[in-house]
Amino acid sequence: MNRMIILGGGESGVGSAILAKKKGFDVFLSDSGALQDKYRAELEQYGIPYEEKGHTEELVLAATEIIKSPGIPNYTPLVRKAMEKGIPVLSEMEFAKRYTSAKMICITGSNGKTTTASMLYHILKSAGLNVGLGGNIGRSFARQAAEENHDYYVLELSSFQLENMYSFKADIAILLNITPDHLDRYDHDIQKYIDAKMRIAQNQTETDAFIFWEEDPIVSKEIEKLASSGKRYTFAEHKVGNAIAYLNHHEIDINTPDSTFVMEQDLLALEGLHNLYNSLASGIAAKLLDITDENLRQSLSDFQGVEHRLEKVAKVRSVQFINDSKATNVNSCWYALQSMKTKVVLILGGTDKGNDYGEIEQLVKDKVRALVFLGVDNSKLHRFFNGKMEKIEDASSMKDAVQKAYGLAREGDTVLLSPCCASFDLFENYEDRGNQFKECVRKL
Ligand code: ADP
Repeated sequence: MNRMIILGGGESGVGSAILAKKKGFDVFLSDSGALQDKYRAELEQYGIPYEEKGHTEELVLAATEIIKSPGIPNYTPLVRKAMEKGIPVLSEMEFAKRYTSAKMICITGSNGKTTTASMLYHILKSAGLNVGLGGNIGRSFARQAAEENHDYYVLELSSFQLENMYSFKADIAILLNITPDHLDRYDHDIQKYIDAKMRIAQNQTETDAFIFWEEDPIVSKEIEKLASSGKRYTFAEHKVGNAIAYLNHHEIDINTPDSTFVMEQDLLALEGLHNLYNSLASGIAAKLLDITDENLRQSLSDFQGVEHRLEKVAKVRSVQFINDSKATNVNSCWYALQSMKTKVVLILGGTDKGNDYGEIEQLVKDKVRALVFLGVDNSKLHRFFNGKMEKIEDASSMKDAVQKAYGLAREGDTVLLSPCCASFDLFENYEDRGNQFKECVRKL
């Protein structure tokens, strides 16, 4: 019998294990860390053998195929060994796709994946389609392929998942943007990261669609090298180049081969230029799937947004607090600042992934009244911003940061948490950071 080894026992790994078990494989799951209780219980319920807190090499290398969770890099010695031995190392998507004939709508990009995937899911679901949301978000695609039977999937894909996808094909692929991120996992070689992202369009034929940002400096170069032949549809802020979706005065226009969609920009639920892009990308996909104008208009205007992404928390004595904890790179902070209509006290800092703060320098000078650095090691931020900004304070906890920011803000200002950095130095993850921010704001 084919021996399927699953590396990593989170939502992706456990979903894959359940699907593999249901499909009759001899399954074994191995995790280098401790499993969460709920996942351990599920493996036991399905009678799936597993190990935790370490991999037994002989067991793993006896695999016919390996399904690897996206959190485990391809350069991990054990994964390398398996690849050298010629064992196929797949992502959950590559595996689960074998068991569904549903239409695949896949979204990647350095920023905006979760927002766009959630928005598009909302549009399709509200229009009555039988659709699942998976990938990097919510319940795993493999679990849904095992337990449910959707006609459509909206999948949020990271570069890590795409790296281990080979024959997978998206019926509709959306590439929102490419900016430097996660370079620590790509030998600081941005081309490797770009190549992984471009895989979103792999294997596409003329009947498939590839949606991307017309003006992305990186994607517009890469597209020339692209071998697959998915039909290309682009969006942009204004009507430029081949863009079919753009802002036209105060309306958004989306022109697919079979339709012309127009909507007042003011009616879009989410604010900011980045969310205009996300709405246009979702709108193109929705029109290609024949969602009616009425349904699309309704969903683009009543979408609730996603927690920790430019989330309005509260107004405290005329100071607006906004939680953008998910801004873990400089580009997302750029868009956050760009969308601010008042002076800002910006809280930033954390685990730096090789940031270039030059990207936000001008916006900081134009819009930011004061900076609060929140991190264990703020030295890089000081080296960059000292002398450029008058008011800078350091904080060592969220409570400290919120109080200092509030003290620095004037009436009518916005206090924005948009850290440019990962959160692991002081917090469990970005959700924990955002939740602590909200709690501290509510206690002011
Ligand atoms: P991802 O899933 O790619 O990390 P999210 O939707 O979670 O993206 O958003 C991450 C951060 O990026 C948030 O701070 C959000 O406000 C910002 N953002 C959302 N969409 C875009 C976009 N199209 N371009 C740049 N930044 C974006």
